[in-house]
Amino acid sequence: NSQIAPQTPIDGNVLAAKSFARCGVTHMFGVVGIPVTSLANRAVSLGIRFLAFHNEQSAGYAASAYGYLTGKPGLLLTVSGPGCVHGLAGLSNAMANTWPMVMISGSCDQNDFGRGDFQELDQIEAVKPFSKLSVKAKSIKDIPNCVVQVLDRAVSGRPGGCYLDLPSDVLHQTVTESEAESLLTAALNSSESRSIANGSEIASSDIEVAAELLRKAERPLIVFGKGAAYARAENELKKLVENTGIPFLPTPMGKGLLPDTHDLAASAARSLAIGKCDVALVVGARLNWLLHFGEPPKWSKDVKFILVDVSKDEIELRKPHLGLVGDAKKVLELINKEIKDDPFCLGNNHPWVEAVSKKAKENVSRMEAQLAKDVVPFNFLTPMRIIRDAILGVGSPAPVVVSEGANTMDVGRSVLVQTEPRTRLDAGTWGTMGVGLGYCIAAAVAEPDRLVVAVEGDSGFGFSAMEVETLVRYQLPVVVIVFNNGGVYGGDRRSPEEISGPFKDDPAPTSFVPGAAYHKLIEAFGGKGYLVGTPDELKSALDESFSARKPTVINVTIDPYAGAESGRLQHKN
Ligand code: ADP
Repeated sequence: NSQIAPQTPIDGNVLAAKSFARCGVTHMFGVVGIPVTSLANRAVSLGIRFLAFHNEQSAGYAASAYGYLTGKPGLLLTVSGPGCVHGLAGLSNAMANTWPMVMISGSCDQNDFGRGDFQELDQIEAVKPFSKLSVKAKSIKDIPNCVVQVLDRAVSGRPGGCYLDLPSDVLHQTVTESEAESLLTAALNSSESRSIANGSEIASSDIEVAAELLRKAERPLIVFGKGAAYARAENELKKLVENTGIPFLPTPMGKGLLPDTHDLAASAARSLAIGKCDVALVVGARLNWLLHFGEPPKWSKDVKFILVDVSKDEIELRKPHLGLVGDAKKVLELINKEIKDDPFCLGNNHPWVEAVSKKAKENVSRMEAQLAKDVVPFNFLTPMRIIRDAILGVGSPAPVVVSEGANTMDVGRSVLVQTEPRTRLDAGTWGTMGVGLGYCIAAAVAEPDRLVVAVEGDSGFGFSAMEVETLVRYQLPVVVIVFNNGGVYGGDRRSPEEISGPFKDDPAPTSFVPGAAYHKLIEAFGGKGYLVGTPDELKSALDESFSARKPTVINVTIDPYAGAESGRLQHKN
């Protein structure tokens, strides 16, 4: 029988969806509309979970955090023009944090570009400062190849954001099924295997020098950040710390790679540890503002830095005593092996270990004394202690904690306890506020066994509060706790001379409606809301919502006079 079944033509939307599915993509975040709605629908029919948001900004933040949590590029799908512009927030956040992400935007018809077409924008130009690679499919035949390129590039070398432009005329072109199949096969065959510096280029003499520096140091310190977390280097770090007895300091998102409760944790003695160490092994963390640029007065001027980073540029920028370019996990394996041949361990009686541990204990007990008080109306510490204990009560797998806000994030960083890797997401390298709900949604889908708990200032929450509807729609196990003190930094903090002019009777730029009923927002969509103002009310709301694992907002009334301006970053304001 020579009859051949008629082939259904495949358009650009279908081919793009097929390309993503064939590359192993399992999740996509975004906002649909002309010309990409059918791409999203097709992706779903091919087994990709599409998380539909209200705003591309939040969806983009979600995609960036998904990339960090899974090590696979997080995908953001947007419409043209304004959709792409809103999405830049997520793409830039991925770049700033060095997380893998791909933004895919529809764009206007190539034949109408320059004539004022619907949502027209030169998107390739617009994304340039925020992406490692941006490509446009100029014909349907380019689609599979472009998809493979952006997915590969996002994870290779230093992770970051890539961009794929899909013009509407291309999305409407068609090919036959068999043409589509051969385009897909050719593209997949061209995929470079994930290229990342794995440390194999490091001279063994450099590893010897690193081990020797640590061995000879009088006051060594191991610092690790979210690059080490991304590299899943927790086992190698544990081995290094426990074999050598060297105290360690995590950056905010490095927290949890080793438990905060570990005997060698120097977090509570941070100033002493960084101010006095003579050799610091810094793994997957930049010597940027978060680490005071590695300079005096916070660090000693004689400290010798050993930097481990996947990015050669980063190491060249910082000019450390020794730079080791490679994947954190691989490089730590090499260092561990080198140390094993000639082992050393500082031990608890080592003067440096003793000094760090004594200072940490003193600071912890001072903080605990503050935390133990039940202050009502709530300051920041009392509810944070109650939340800390509730989170610890969940056990393993530990919840993912999402945190943003000025005071709320600052206080949360020192009070909340991280016991497992990659369980803290916060404003990050850029200090990006507004990431909260996007991060919650990403964490809930990337880590389905974990509860997600967001501890948010009311201003941080407000950036993306509408996404509580998204939580309810997908029934995600997310509990959002809003520290409600009536505004940015806690409402009207103006000095008398700042209150003048014809609009002096307007609310202060830092104020929100006092007593805002944020818990009712989620109730509008069928989620659960609580309003709490006392320890017992908060405890019972946490108890119920942590067991229910349903979308919840707990609106915590905080004394508007309790916070400090800009948290602990006053000097920057
Ligand atoms: P933190 O905010 O925790 O201090 P940063 O974002 O400043 O961390 O630094 C993370 C660093 O980790 C970046 O310089 C990035 O290049 C690096 N990095 C990313 N992936 C890896 C990896 N697999 N191995 C080592 N370093 C990595």
